[in-house]
Amino acid sequence: MTIFLDSAGSSLPPEEVSAEVFAHLRRESEIGGYVAAREREDDLEAGYGVFAELLGAEPDEIAFTDSATRAWLTAFDAVPLAAGDRVLYSEAEYAGTAIPILHRAREVGAIAEAVPSDSSGQIDVGALKEMLDERVKLVSLVHVPTNSGLVNPAREVADAAHDVGALVLLDACQSIGQMPVRADELGVDLISCTGRKWLRGPRGTGALVVRREAARRMRPRLIDLHSAEWVGPHDVRLREDARVYEIWEANIAARLGLIAAARHALAKGLDVIEREVADRAGRLRAGLSALPGVTVRDVGERMAGIVTFTVDGVGAADVRDRLAREGVTVTVSSASSTLLDMTRRGLDEVVRASPHYFVQPEQVDQAVEAVSRCAR
Ligand SMILES: *Cc1c(COP(=O)(O)O)cnc(C)c1O
Repeated sequence: MTIFLDSAGSSLPPEEVSAEVFAHLRRESEIGGYVAAREREDDLEAGYGVFAELLGAEPDEIAFTDSATRAWLTAFDAVPLAAGDRVLYSEAEYAGTAIPILHRAREVGAIAEAVPSDSSGQIDVGALKEMLDERVKLVSLVHVPTNSGLVNPAREVADAAHDVGALVLLDACQSIGQMPVRADELGVDLISCTGRKWLRGPRGTGALVVRREAARRMRPRLIDLHSAEWVGPHDVRLREDARVYEIWEANIAARLGLIAAARHALAKGLDVIEREVADRAGRLRAGLSALPGVTVRDVGERMAGIVTFTVDGVGAADVRDRLAREGVTVTVSSASSTLLDMTRRGLDEVVRASPHYFVQPEQVDQAVEAVSRCAR
């Protein structure tokens, strides 16, 4: 029995995604990477349109990267930040984005402040509004955190932040591919996302959305010969689209796989995917809640596909390993990756199960039975 409950970690790519990657690697070994890439030039270019459709943006607002973190860091680096400026971030922020915020704020003399959560566990929009003033240059918001089912209210946060002219950077790492995530609907300025999680793409892939109005206020600094042109002995000219945030070299096989994964998700429909994931996650939460000695740890008014829990008297790594022996794949999320949220809730670690639509309802039930054997 293999029951895969780790699409929040690194999911199982559909067959056509893996086939695309394998075929391109094979082609590179036959004719070389440059010629192989040229053969797929049109498909690579079409990828910007595919991601624009997926993310509710225009093709010239899309950049491809090698991870969500790279996308996030690249955008963050380009947001001007001076002494006395403020950066706000969500309490469920991922360490990979909280650390660079704290580090850069200290370097430039800016002020980084976490926005508290409300009683449901989501970002407190009322508290955010009280904190916002014209010194706030950026609000960083995690859409779906790495360690609970929570979905943060991105639209409300974006509207409030825009009232004071702050940019909003949405970490959509855990939402992309499991629900519709559209810049036009959410009203956010910047979106970072990964390929390997719910989108079912290859590892080492990610994408960034930079809306045009936001782009005018940003200062890209990590520039190479792809993002800019050397037009005179002392002159460079930057690209005017979001590809100014890319660099030249890329894993083309992985990029093609990523585009195939996005096409696959769009063909199934993000609304359909969201319903099916919610069904599996809801079934899992209900099953686990009914088990003695098991506590579901998810928070939020609106919950998505990540299901977290603890088992009385059994460490999270131990639960993971015992489940692995029964063919059930889950992971552990520890306090260090979402320090503020976990500390606030008094948790060191949780077991994280993230069932995608390809997990059958009976498999969810079998996973619950396997957890009940750990809890005994
Ligand atoms: C996984 C994750 C990231 C980082 O994504 P990478 O592709 O590993 O860079 C960022 N934010 C959240 C909430 C995540 O779960």
